Amino acid sequence: MSNNLKNKSNNQADGKRSLAEYCERFAELNVSSNKQRGTAQYKPILLLSVIDSIAQGFILDNKIAVSEDLIDTFNRYWKLLNSEYEGGLHYPFLHLQSEGFWHITFKPEFNGLQPKTTNKLKQAVDYASLDNELFELIQNPVSRQALVDTLIAVWFSYSKKQIEDVISINNKLQSSKDESNISYSKDSSQEKRFYFKKSILRNAFFRKAVVHVYDYKCAFCKLKVTRSLKQNIVDGAHIKPLAQFYDNRIDNGISFCKNHHWAFDNGLFTIDNEYKIIVSNDFQEESPHSRTIREFHGEAILLPNSTEYLPRVEALQWHRKNVFRNK
Ligand SMILES: [Zn+2]
Repeated sequence: MSNNLKNKSNNQADGKRSLAEYCERFAELNVSSNKQRGTAQYKPILLLSVIDSIAQGFILDNKIAVSEDLIDTFNRYWKLLNSEYEGGLHYPFLHLQSEGFWHITFKPEFNGLQPKTTNKLKQAVDYASLDNELFELIQNPVSRQALVDTLIAVWFSYSKKQIEDVISINNKLQSSKDESNISYSKDSSQEKRFYFKKSILRNAFFRKAVVHVYDYKCAFCKLKVTRSLKQNIVDGAHIKPLAQFYDNRIDNGISFCKNHHWAFDNGLFTIDNEYKIIVSNDFQEESPHSRTIREFHGEAILLPNSTEYLPRVEALQWHRKNVFRNK
């Protein structure tokens, strides 16, 4: 192990690595499965924890220490996503080195024996750093979302119960919001603490769950374009905006294609309590090759099969009052 340790970055020679390349690498993480640890999602969960910590500003430069914040974030995600097996940050923190984009700098006094607990890891490691290109990509919200979506699409949706798993994880993420706020209000250094409700992971599971209950179709125009489970043309849109309400319950979501997501967020149309489309009279449009937005006025949107996922009437009312714009 220690032979590679000083070899900080061996990827400078072959040029910058792209987002697509890192997505591919995230999809192909070498994840050994064994009886004690199951199909271990240690590495994906460590990466999600690191990305989330960077997104929330807890990790500011490309020197990722074994901090209490990181340990805590990892343990929370571990508990939510993989409660069946024993967790532990030390395990993926070391093994991620074999992927080539995660580089560990050990403390000078490190004795070379593999740390078997998180405490030992803390004593041994100065910090880890990502490839600089990857660190930059994570700082950009658009490429960050692509990386998170890849991890979730590949590592958390492999079984027949795929969507039940995703929906139940989404619900767990939503309901643990209050609990996590309480547990941290006691802490004196609370301002630098993990904000669970702002977690990018919650948002990723929300989008995936919503899109799935609408069968990957736009609720407005019914368009469906998929390439694989990872790639489709629709988004899980929040009816009440995430940034204001942090409401990731599925009934605060509707699946829309990119165009109609934008139109909904900008108040060009809204939806009544009977799930019928109301189109604004306050915009111009030309659509020579497909139906205009206006032509959908009065039509019902597509609804999920299960009534428990129907858009919440209270959220629709809020949207009509606060987002929809008519002359
Ligand atoms: Zn559409």
